[in-house]
Amino acid sequence: MAGESLRVAVIGGGIGGLATANALLRRGMDVHVYEQAPALGEIGAGVLITPNSLRLLDRFGVGEAVARVGARVGEGSRYYRSDGETVAPILTADSNGWNGMFGVHRADLVGVLADALPADRVHPGHRATGVSQDERSVAVAFENGEEVRADAVVAADGIHSVLQRYVAEPSAPVDSGSVAYRGLVPAERVPWWPKGISQLWMGEQRHFLVYPVRGGTLINYVGFVPSHEKTVESWTAEGDVEALRKEFATWDSPVPRLLAEVERTNWWGLYDRDPLTTWTRGRLSLLGDAAHPMLPHLGQGANQSIEDAVALSVFLADATADDVPDALRRYEDLRRRRTTEVQVGARANGRRYDSHYDNLSERDAEIAGSVRFRSWLYDYDAESAARGALAAG
Ligand SMILES: Cc1cc2nc3c(=O)[nH]c(=O)nc-3n(C[C@H](O)[C@H](O)[C@H](O)COP(=O)(O)OP(=O)(O)OC[C@H]3O[C@@H](n4cnc5c(N)ncnc54)[C@H](O)[C@@H]3O)c2cc1C
Repeated sequence: MAGESLRVAVIGGGIGGLATANALLRRGMDVHVYEQAPALGEIGAGVLITPNSLRLLDRFGVGEAVARVGARVGEGSRYYRSDGETVAPILTADSNGWNGMFGVHRADLVGVLADALPADRVHPGHRATGVSQDERSVAVAFENGEEVRADAVVAADGIHSVLQRYVAEPSAPVDSGSVAYRGLVPAERVPWWPKGISQLWMGEQRHFLVYPVRGGTLINYVGFVPSHEKTVESWTAEGDVEALRKEFATWDSPVPRLLAEVERTNWWGLYDRDPLTTWTRGRLSLLGDAAHPMLPHLGQGANQSIEDAVALSVFLADATADDVPDALRRYEDLRRRRTTEVQVGARANGRRYDSHYDNLSERDAEIAGSVRFRSWLYDYDAESAARGALAAG
């Protein structure tokens, strides 16, 4: 097979799948993305792109496009208690201080990553239903009756991954006890809202996060509240605006004032899963939420999927078709260690943000000290780490 491009089928055209296609194409592989939806998604609200993935997106050549569709979030970003008392600054750059952070509408990021690919590489209307493999190749079956054969399949099919069960015993969803209301407010309706920063208020069993997206024309908010009923793990469920307002009515005044301008909100049941013990079987590997669904309390779902994509591209770059199972195992080995720490860290941060502490000064000290963990998160270069692991043999 030497000399022929590796054939890779990526299942799922979300952020992880599209980042993977960009990363693999850059290294000369023959990649196609198969997405179940009839068109790539308009759904969603804000995601934060943090320095650890921004530097990777820059190398795909889409850093400028992300800056164009996003909104820079920088100095002045802060954590507060629910009454408005400042707790600590929010870290918004890596240790070099130059690689910053952007709030981006998920649909805009999907658009940027898709536009960077040749159109014939993305196939909407393809819902994967199963995978079969032998020693030489792997095949994916689709609901529309088509079948695709490749040297490797990357399952980037999200939190409800259909292909996960071909690799591992799925981890059961664990109810976190919280739901998140999220949505967007046009910035022109809140001209007094400070520009270019992220703000997070922490109260009893609740927290409220705000940052700008789309060049600052939209303000993205997420209100995390306790839930006493079973909720859906959905990005599209419609929420009750009045109920949302009530949850934060007595908080620091910018919070209820912003919520007064909300017309629609979505809500999202927050479930967690224990880290999987394996992501790879033969020529099939998991990536992004399919591999490591995490709570949103470190804002790393999209960022870790982009790191996965770039690391995978390093391991597959010089692989022949025969080497694929070994290359995928090595990808998993590197990535599973890091994402497990992020999954566990996101749980711990959720407890801090929701003030599950007898002594809030202790919580505040941990928030102030979390700059060390954030630096570990943001200074990491997934491409260098993968190269290092490859060189180490
Ligand atoms: C509609 C939607 C809206 C979201 N909105 C937000 C948001 O506002 N804020 C936020 O922080 N995070 C949001 N997320 C989650 C966030 O995008 C992910 O946590 C993160 O980007 C990791 O991405 P991923 O590519 O692993 O998974 P996802 O982004 O979930 O992408 C998975 C993709 O796979 C497709 N897919 C699923 N099953 C199949 C199948 N069997 N065959 C083919 N394709 C399949 C899905 O349609 C989807 O496009 C959203 C996810 C989705 C799907």
